[in-house]
Amino acid sequence: MRGPPILPDDLSLRDLLLWVERRRIAARRRLTARRVAPVARPAASEPRPAAAAPTGAAPGTVLTLDAPTPDLRRFTVAKPSGFSYAPGQSVRLELEGTRRRYTMVSAPHEPALEFLVELVPGGRMSARLRGLRPGAAIGIAGDPKGGIALDTGAKRHLMLATVTGVNPFVSILRDAVRRGRTDLRVVLVHGASYADEFGYNEELSALAAAHPGLLTYIPTVSRPDEPRNAGWRGARGRADALIEAVIARHSLAPADTTAYACGNTGMVETAAARLGGLGYRVRTETYD
Ligand SMILES: Cc1cc2nc3c(=O)[nH]c(=O)nc-3n(C[C@H](O)[C@H](O)[C@H](O)COP(=O)(O)OP(=O)(O)OC[C@H]3O[C@@H](n4cnc5c(N)ncnc54)[C@H](O)[C@@H]3O)c2cc1C
Repeated sequence: MRGPPILPDDLSLRDLLLWVERRRIAARRRLTARRVAPVARPAASEPRPAAAAPTGAAPGTVLTLDAPTPDLRRFTVAKPSGFSYAPGQSVRLELEGTRRRYTMVSAPHEPALEFLVELVPGGRMSARLRGLRPGAAIGIAGDPKGGIALDTGAKRHLMLATVTGVNPFVSILRDAVRRGRTDLRVVLVHGASYADEFGYNEELSALAAAHPGLLTYIPTVSRPDEPRNAGWRGARGRADALIEAVIARHSLAPADTTAYACGNTGMVETAAARLGGLGYRVRTETYD
């Protein structure tokens, strides 16, 4: 506990004002030092500047961290040398003895690994990640694997995600931009309860504006009437509820379109059943 301020004796009014100002500046510095270091977000998206790993940071060191909402953590981690992965793959992270699998949001060319994690109530890893700070060490346990891979044989791609289920799609899109693959046609429907849960809204909207032929980004909120969504002007409803309308509007025929669904099991299973029934090839990954 900090003690009461000690006021020097025999102060003139000017000295008193200077003394108060010095204490105010010192208090502000202490407050700033306690805050979590924010991630610098890019203003535009083409190509997205990768998070720079500071020279000499040990592999697994948390470089940047921010909290888009109280239950989301976005952080970058220094990449071990020789660590390679395909866009959309996941890796097991280890923190204080707990291991869980997370998808890299970053594309393989980026110098740091980026993650976006939703903290779940009562979750072991969630509790550990809630206290994560820049400079902490995270274990990278084993090789990246699995994940949602882009179907290189398809011309069009219909991607459906809930909240952090967008992660593999961001990685795939960053990689596509890096490779100049603007011939791809991606329609990405991103569902969340609340508009502040679209962790990459700014980046994806900017990418869609810069390359309308490459990406159509449709964030949609399932609870549009709640106060937290006040001012939301975008799509409404669950991601899977928009499937038929999106297919019709963007002329996505099963013959040249591959569909993908990633995130919570309810959405993924509903979407896979509906899209499979319509004749689409569907690639899925569930997080819960
Ligand atoms: C291939 C793969 C990739 C993944 N990538 C990501 C990612 O990029 N970002 C991300 O946030 N998560 C991702 N996950 C989920 C992640 O691995 C953990 O399951 C999640 O972080 C919860 O771990 P926990 O230890 O906090 O919860 P646990 O202690 O394992 O579980 C606590 C309770 O929460 C429930 N639960 C577990 N996960 C969820 C969830 N996602 N939503 C709601 N309830 C849940 C459990 O059923 C259980 O009842 C991925 C999972 C897989 C299999």
